[in-house]
Amino acid sequence: MLEAYTLYSGSSGNCIFVRNGSTCILIDAGRSQRAIQTALSSLGADLDSVSAIFLTHEHGDHTKGLDVISKTYKIPVHITYPSYADLVKADTPLCECAQVHDVIYQVECGDLTIKSFPIPHDSAQNVGYIISNGEFTLGIATDMGYVTTKIAEELSKCNKVIIESNHDIEMVKKGPYPKFLKDRILSNHGHLSNEICAKLCVYLAECGIDQITLAHLSRENNTPDLAYTTSKNALDQAGYNIILRVAGPETIVKAIG
Ligand SMILES: [Zn+2]
Ligand SMILES: [Zn+2]
Repeated sequence: MLEAYTLYSGSSGNCIFVRNGSTCILIDAGRSQRAIQTALSSLGADLDSVSAIFLTHEHGDHTKGLDVISKTYKIPVHITYPSYADLVKADTPLCECAQVHDVIYQVECGDLTIKSFPIPHDSAQNVGYIISNGEFTLGIATDMGYVTTKIAEELSKCNKVIIESNHDIEMVKKGPYPKFLKDRILSNHGHLSNEICAKLCVYLAECGIDQITLAHLSRENNTPDLAYTTSKNALDQAGYNIILRVAGPETIVKAIG
């Protein structure tokens, strides 16, 4: 049975836990080892049982716990070449754990197949993941400047997705951030707005996806209610009644089931 949980989500740290029977993996480790361990233990899991960590990109909100986890648990960390070059220092525990790949790669892990695809973002590289146990397929895509044809195509093949609904465009424009930061967030290499996410939700529902979890919400430029209602209204208007959830920054949200 494929299970997925967002343990932490947003600019204060990101970590997704995926389990299929005895195979456990993490997507990103953007919180401390202790915080990740605490979240895992409430799901009856622990870092000892994690077979691999798959990194989306090198930003701190996705990698914060990696050094300590690599030192303690020596879990293989799958990472693309550009993110590796930017993040990993020679002769460190992380360097020893790193499994470096081209931007598009595929890894078998227990009964799971994990495949990456590129996502435009202001990092050396960013990727999303398609995770399949042969029966169900989960797509993960966050930190998205915009939705490329490739992203839409990859996500359309899934049954369940975790996608970014980062900000409300008006809240960013009227908010306290300096202009350069506003420009960055709203650019093609920034983050995905609620408005565009809502359009993506409708497209994915059209393609047969029946569960969507909205993730990586901005604390300053969004609210869980606003993210939810923007996508929910768009889905309702298009006549799709699918399961829509919102990942919390600190609360565990079940993304499948
Ligand atoms: Zn990022
Ligand atoms: Zn991020």
